[in-house]
Amino acid sequence: MQYYSLQNHQHQVSFREAVIRGLAPDKGLYFPVEIPKLGKANFIERLEEYDPLYIACKVIQPFVGDDIPEHHLKQIIRDTLSFPFPLREVEENVYALELFHGPTLAFKDVGARFMAGCLGYFRRGDEQPVTVLVATSGDTGGAVAAGFYDVPGVEVVILYPSGKVSELQEKQLTTLGRNIRALEINGSFDDCQRMVKTAFLDDELQAHRPLTSANSINVARWLPQMFYYFMAYRKVKQWKKEAVISVPSGNFGNICAGMMAAAMGLPVAHFIASTNVNDTVPRFFRNGEYEPLAAIPTLSNAMDVADPSNFVRILQLFAQNERALKASLTAYSFTDAETVAVMEKVFAERQYLLEPHGAVGYLGLKKYMQQHPGHTGIFLETAHPVKFTNVMPDSLKEKVEVPARVQQLFSLEKKSVRMDADYNKMKAWLMQAD
Ligand SMILES: *Cc1c(COP(=O)(O)O)cnc(C)c1O
Repeated sequence: MQYYSLQNHQHQVSFREAVIRGLAPDKGLYFPVEIPKLGKANFIERLEEYDPLYIACKVIQPFVGDDIPEHHLKQIIRDTLSFPFPLREVEENVYALELFHGPTLAFKDVGARFMAGCLGYFRRGDEQPVTVLVATSGDTGGAVAAGFYDVPGVEVVILYPSGKVSELQEKQLTTLGRNIRALEINGSFDDCQRMVKTAFLDDELQAHRPLTSANSINVARWLPQMFYYFMAYRKVKQWKKEAVISVPSGNFGNICAGMMAAAMGLPVAHFIASTNVNDTVPRFFRNGEYEPLAAIPTLSNAMDVADPSNFVRILQLFAQNERALKASLTAYSFTDAETVAVMEKVFAERQYLLEPHGAVGYLGLKKYMQQHPGHTGIFLETAHPVKFTNVMPDSLKEKVEVPARVQQLFSLEKKSVRMDADYNKMKAWLMQAD
């Protein structure tokens, strides 16, 4: 499969190159030149007969082509899907697709592990290691650290804003060691992101130490997120029902993967993009103007994104036809007050503990189903509640079950390099560190 830059359709590269580069040189996102179709009679209709590994392989193989041999691709998928994706009934006809049973307890584990497998394969045998340089506001860093841990030929450097990630998130970044290093920056997430972007444009640094990004726009992080939509449909199909799916959205990569799955032939009646008050897309749906404002901090902080990178990919899926897009996708936004209220209500009535991102997804699903009855509804629960205990109301805090591996993390020693938000200091460190 070839990929073109959304800024310039003439610029085309292989899967391998799209993964290594991350972003096209003109800063466009990569998009596949064609959307493979999955057979209805011989695949979709028979999904429940197939095991997850076979399904995932069939779904992703056309996007990878010959760039990774099939037996190796299968191994990468096996490593990626090494944890379950249960569909839990929260109330009649409403299901949570739990994506938080992976190593760092958020759905980003899926994309990070798959990308690590691909990059590790592409860099095998290269004598000069590549450095994955990434800025994190919380969840991405942990998933990237765990995904790339001990991958030969790959060094990982994670920048995070000191004091602005939760204790659990910090432990996930700073305790692995080996090829994973954490720079604790005296500054904000935006400072970290600015330093990373400057590094990518620095030829002198790149010549000394080749860099790559593990940002969510990388096709190897985006596309494997299709897997769990197929797993969910496999269950729903056994119940002979039609599903609508609500995705709590920030950068819109996760929902874009679901819509790509639908474009390949997965039957989904409708998608709902649920956002917090960072509502650029819901506003665009209301008034036709795409107008990002400054990002506003909320309880669902992984979705505090004002200008979602992947929305251009969603537009491209519908060939920029807004009417067709609106027939498949609805977008709603919700406040923190609504989020907390629904977390309390769902726990009181159903004993199901939502965390803030999943709660936003649940709110969007319920709103849509009220206006369009008769569907089975699925919302994505994107993180384990333990990651967001700090923003939960007291009544719910004590209900959070702390998984054993989290307890163990707290006993490990944090190792980070403290640094001012000064690009030249980081550059000097990257030029020296081996
Ligand atoms: C990253 C993240 C999101 C948003 O996903 P996008 O693909 O950026 O829309 C939602 N919930 C959690 C917990 C996240 O970490």
